[in-house]
This record gives sequence, C-alpha cells and structure tokens, in this order.
Amino acid sequence: MRDCLTLPVLLLNRYLAPVSLITARRAMVLLYCDAGHALDEGGELYDFDSWRALPIRDNDDVVPVIDGKLRVPRVLHLLRYDRSPNVVIRLTRRNLMLRDHYQCQYCVRRPGVRELNIDHVVPRSRGGTDTWENLVISCRSCNLKKGRRTPVEAGMQLLRQPRKPRWSTTAHILMSTQDQYEEWEPFLKAG
Ligand SMILES: [Zn+2]
Repeated sequence: MRDCLTLPVLLLNRYLAPVSLITARRAMVLLYCDAGHALDEGGELYDFDSWRALPIRDNDDVVPVIDGKLRVPRVLHLLRYDRSPNVVIRLTRRNLMLRDHYQCQYCVRRPGVRELNIDHVVPRSRGGTDTWENLVISCRSCNLKKGRRTPVEAGMQLLRQPRKPRWSTTAHILMSTQDQYEEWEPFLKAG
C-alpha cells in the first residue's frame, strides 16, 4: 500500500498560481501551522480544524491522526506566499526527450526510447559542448550515419533548432509526477 504521506499535493501561492508539488506530509504541517488552507474540489477553503471535521469518503486517501483519520488534501493554498517560482530545467536525458518529443530530430521518426540516442550536433571531438543548443535526440541509425560530422557535412537537416526549453510551472509540475487529480485541474489549465 502506498504511504499516503508521500502523495503529491499541489501548492498554490496567495494568488492561486501553482508553485510546486509538495508531499502530503508537508502539506499537513503547513495546514496545521495555519500557513495554508486546504482546497476541496468545489473550491472551498478549510483551515486545519474545519478540514479535520470533514467526513471521510470512499475515494479519499487518509492519514491517521490521534482522534481518527484525516483526508489528504490535493491542493494547499498558501496564505502569505506571493512569489512565483523560477522553474529550473535541468539538462537531463529525460528532459531532452521531452523537449524533442521522443522524436529523432533528423529523420522525424519515433522509434521508441531504446532506439533513441543523444546526438551532439557539433561533435564533441570538434569542440561541441553539452548544452541545450548542441544536444538533440536522434535515432541510432541517424546517429551512425552522421558519425563525427556536423549536420551540414553529413547532408542532414535538423527538424528544429535546439534551444533551452521554456516550460511553464504548470508544464513542469505535470511532467514531474504520474499522479493527476481533478482538484488540480482549475489551477493547471493552459499553463
Ligand atoms: Zn533518425
């Protein structure tokens, strides 16, 4: 069984803009300290005492508390935090795959993750760097065909110019978790 204290809770700043995902454990602490209020699917706000008074429904995730059980909130609204986060997008294989839509940037095919490589547009042996602008996803056969050449030398064309992605907080949040709750939807739309 999954530990309900590790479930993701969507954190909103005081303007109801998404900030990040936190664990249910952290959300409980913030709720208990009155740093934030829990939001239900109807948009109602609850402080700790009123949240604790809510009945447990069949589909609720719950955590045990001294005198019973507590619903795990899906959304926590921070009362005083007014900033928006700067999303830091790390240069990783997974993020490159996401940026390039799991698609070979030379032949446009999508052969599946196992058949995809990371290609240095300007090869490392020619001074090419590990940067968003010099790394693209390519399939094995394009990778082999290109060898230690630049795309121009190899007569291959890039689908698009590689850039650092500009993902919104929303996109970043959605990509970082497998979970999705209907309570999140009003706050994660069209980010
Ligand atoms: Zn290819």
